[in-house]
This record gives sequence, C-alpha cells and structure tokens, in this order.
Amino acid sequence: DVILEVSDLHARLVTEQGNGREILKGVNLTVKRGEVHAIMGKNGCGKSTLSKVLVGHPDYEVTSGSVTFKGEPLLDLEPEERSHAGLFLSFQSPVEVPGVSNTDFLRMAYNAKLQASGGEELDPLEFYGFLMPKLEQLKMDPSFLQRNVNEGFSGGEKKRNEILQLAVLSPDLGILDEIDSGLDVDALRDVAAAINGYIAAAEKDESTNTPAMLMITHYRRLLEYIQPSVVHIMLDGKIVDSGSSDMAQILEEKGYDNWM
Ligand code: ADP
Ligand code: MG
Ligand code: MG
Repeated sequence: DVILEVSDLHARLVTEQGNGREILKGVNLTVKRGEVHAIMGKNGCGKSTLSKVLVGHPDYEVTSGSVTFKGEPLLDLEPEERSHAGLFLSFQSPVEVPGVSNTDFLRMAYNAKLQASGGEELDPLEFYGFLMPKLEQLKMDPSFLQRNVNEGFSGGEKKRNEILQLAVLSPDLGILDEIDSGLDVDALRDVAAAINGYIAAAEKDESTNTPAMLMITHYRRLLEYIQPSVVHIMLDGKIVDSGSSDMAQILEEKGYDNWM
C-alpha cells in the first residue's frame, strides 16, 4: 500500500537569491504505509528542499518528474490541500504564538482539518477528551497544554510539541525535518520516545489508516533510538543509495565519503 511515490523529481529555487539553481536532481522515493524512512545526507544536499517541495513551498519550482500521494497527483494541489489530504511537515524552527494556548492552537488545527473533510468539530471539552490519551502516549506532561504555543519552550519541548501536533492531526505521512537538531542527549531521548509512542499508538488505532513517516536528518544518533524500515542516502540532490538500518552503521564507520 504505497502512500508516496516520487519519480525523477527535479526542482529549482525561484527566490531572487536562489537564481533558478537546480537543487533536486532526480529524486526517486517510494514510501508505503507503516514504514518509517530516514533520509540522511550532508548539509546542503537538498533534504529540506525535498520536504518543502512535497508540501508545496513557494520558493521552489518543480521542473520535471512527478509525485503521487495516496495514488493521486500531489503537485497540482495547494499547500493547504496537501495538508488536508494528510501530509504533515514539522518545522525545523517552530514559531512561537504569543497569547494562544497550546490546547486552543491544537484544537483550531484539528477542527480546520475536520471541517475540510466535512466532519463535526469538537468543542473544548470534547477536544480535551481526545487530547489527553495522546499526551499519555507521547509521555508528555499535561502542563504543556496551558502554556502558550512554544513560548519559553526549550528546544526539546518545541520538538515534542511538533510530535503532539502530528499525533493530533494524524496525517498519512508525517515528515520530520531535523527533529533531532540542537538537542542534547536527554532531550533527544524524550523526543525519540514521543515519536516511538506516536508510531506505536498510530499502528494500534483502528479509526485511522496506518501512517508512514519520513525522518530527515543529518546525524546518525536519532537512529539509535528509532528503528527505520529504510535508510536513504542523499547526495547532491539525489537519493544515491537505500537499504536497511545497517546503512546507518556504514555511515558511522565510513562517513558520507563512502557514497562520493
Ligand atoms: P539540507 O536540508 O540538506 O541541508 P537544503 O535543501 O536546505 O539542504 O539546501 C540545499 C541547497 O539549496 C543549499 O545549497 C542551500 O544553500 C540552498 N538553498 C535552499 N533554500 C534556499 C533559499 N531559500 N535561498 C537560497 N539558497 C537556498
Ligand atoms: Mg541544512
Ligand atoms: Mg535541512
């Protein structure tokens, strides 16, 4: 059951600074339900560009290739439509939203998605009932909810908050771009526990389809805590190798030079 199929995807930067430079140079990627994929590569190889192109970021133009999401062409959809179709991208640097509590923010996001699919919105009390088990699954403290979105959050708390958003929106495909960046070992362990809690709960949840995950990272250490089904190596705008989690071990021993 394929969720995402990327075929020979080429994309260029259309910002003034970017000067039309081609960043993605023929990416191929197939992701199935229930799979956790890791895309690893050096800084600047195009990992974030791939995730941004998938969600429809305006800085990039697809010049050739195709993407299907749940069997439908993705690239014709507006960013909001992609999100409502079940695609989620975490932010590398989550924004603060002063004056808005986390619960209210999450409820708005959740209701916007329900509205788009014609579902009944949840009132604050109903939403609270929906949210509490998720906090438990992610091993997150309920005090998170009363605080304003990301205001005064530590790096690790911001990242866990992204996982909470993921759990609330239950997308078919969740893309986590450098969810491990800037975290110390303890914070990384907490974030990984939240991700693993989310994956385990999502697999059991019969009310939603089993999701897939795409974890984008520069470092190997995240993969010490989360077992991916497939590891890809990205180099200069292309995925140049894919394999089991053993690939991370090769990377540890030989570095990216092994693929150059
Ligand atoms: P990665 O996530 O693998 O570190 P990126 O996809 O962020 O790589 O970047 C790929 C290349 O595109 C880099 O050379 C980067 O400097 C460049 N780039 C990405 N976004 C922009 C932008 N908005 N303006 C100018 N250059 C950019
Ligand atoms: Mg980078
Ligand atoms: Mg990046």
